[in-house]
Amino acid sequence: MSNADIRANLSRIREQIAAAARRSGRSPAAVTLLGVVKGVDPARVAAAIEIGLADLAENRVQEAMRRRDALGPTRDRATWHLIGTLQTNKVRQALELFEVIHSLDRWPLATEIARRAEGRGRLVRALLQVNVSGEASKRGLAPQEVEPFLERAGQLESLRIEGLMTIAPLVSDPEQVRPVFRRLRELRDRLARRRWPNADLRELSMGMSGDFTVAVEEGATLVRIGTALFGPRPTRMADPFREEGAAGGEELLG
Ligand SMILES: *Cc1c(COP(=O)(O)O)cnc(C)c1O
Repeated sequence: MSNADIRANLSRIREQIAAAARRSGRSPAAVTLLGVVKGVDPARVAAAIEIGLADLAENRVQEAMRRRDALGPTRDRATWHLIGTLQTNKVRQALELFEVIHSLDRWPLATEIARRAEGRGRLVRALLQVNVSGEASKRGLAPQEVEPFLERAGQLESLRIEGLMTIAPLVSDPEQVRPVFRRLRELRDRLARRRWPNADLRELSMGMSGDFTVAVEEGATLVRIGTALFGPRPTRMADPFREEGAAGGEELLG
């Protein structure tokens, strides 16, 4: 995929986002496009930054570290988001690499992020990953776990929860997952009526290449787009939900 292709894809996707936002009576500016760079070579990532993509997302800490070395100072021109599962023993590196963590999905991870953030005198921005569809293969809090999680997170002063994230099931017709996006928004709307000491639930991270227009119509503020922007990933990377090795059992239960 050439740089010209990336540029053309970017402007087409931005138009589609804008049209979907208008259909739902929102401003196109309310939606941020995150370019998902997993499996994309550093030259393409640098090109995307050059042509004005300001927010980029990785799903693996290890890959992000390698790419940071390859990109050099160009990397600092974008805001970096972590969208994949974060193992507790990689939190320290993750805080060096990312500004926003979209995949906060269990309590021990929250306390570890807070502990590391405190040590660095930093406030960490995170989203709670919610398994709206209830698929066994998906990470995330069950919808009913979100409210108690927010209550508990009130004690973690160096962690700010900025919203909710979900990964919809892969389907051929994106209309099939509209109810998933709608339920995440309704959950957010209900919880946002309460005042939280260190949460501000303005963000909804939902929508990928195959379903982002539907997600935007349902209220997405952050859409995570890989293949529609950069082309197909090498098959080794084809499974977007691949995890970085097995996490410890107690961690998964957190
Ligand atoms: C890979 C990935 C995406 C982007 O997927 P595409 O279908 O290539 O747009 C979005 N979100 C998460 C969590 C991912 O792992």
